[in-house]
Amino acid sequence: MLLAYCLALLFVTGAIAEVFYHRYVGHQAFKLSPRMESAIMYLGSALGMGSPITWALLHRYHHAYTGTDKDPHPVELCGWRAMLLPNKPKQFGLGRDLLKNKRLVRGHKTCDRIHNTVVMVCLIGGFLFENYYLLVTAILPLFYIRFLERVVAVYLLHKIGYRLFPTKDDSRNCVWAFPFIFGGAWHNNHHRYPNSADYGVLRYEIDPYYWLIKLIGYDCITHRARALTDYNRKAK
Ligand SMILES: [Zn+2]
Ligand SMILES: [Zn+2]
Repeated sequence: MLLAYCLALLFVTGAIAEVFYHRYVGHQAFKLSPRMESAIMYLGSALGMGSPITWALLHRYHHAYTGTDKDPHPVELCGWRAMLLPNKPKQFGLGRDLLKNKRLVRGHKTCDRIHNTVVMVCLIGGFLFENYYLLVTAILPLFYIRFLERVVAVYLLHKIGYRLFPTKDDSRNCVWAFPFIFGGAWHNNHHRYPNSADYGVLRYEIDPYYWLIKLIGYDCITHRARALTDYNRKAK
């Protein structure tokens, strides 16, 4: 039962990272109702995902400067860049448009307080009542988020795999990343069409997160058909 809970917790954490922080806030690939937006954002805060605005800002720098020293994803810089969070509007650069969304700004300001409270309550309750569910809730998502940032985003998606599109960066589609981030594994497709909610292009490149997006969101942008046409044209 505890194992099933851990797997569910990992799935929810990964889905919030990829669907909400990445595709929704980072790339605005679909829309959510205000209630759904707030619910997912505060759940992400509780699990330790941090500010959606900061996450999206760093990620936009990754797209704009992939592989250069301004890229926040390289492993030697990621930790420091993530700690030096911008907190003044004029420092937001590529993420300035996000400041117009009052709910996201509220989430930006409250995320650390929410996460600290959740961790404290879970740790105290977990040790007092010997409740392993509370203990894994406090700890597991944090390890998973770091694993996604450092191993999956840095190594798998930019070092291992194949490329369908000759983008100017080193992004790759990596089947090894699929068990951890599902459709997020088709990262070369994503770098080529960053605002598409659906990352798959070839038939086997399925994207379960896109199915989830269609369930919870609306006005999804998808470039799958256009991407497939582009790919077939190049393959001839
Ligand atoms: Zn990338
Ligand atoms: Zn992206």
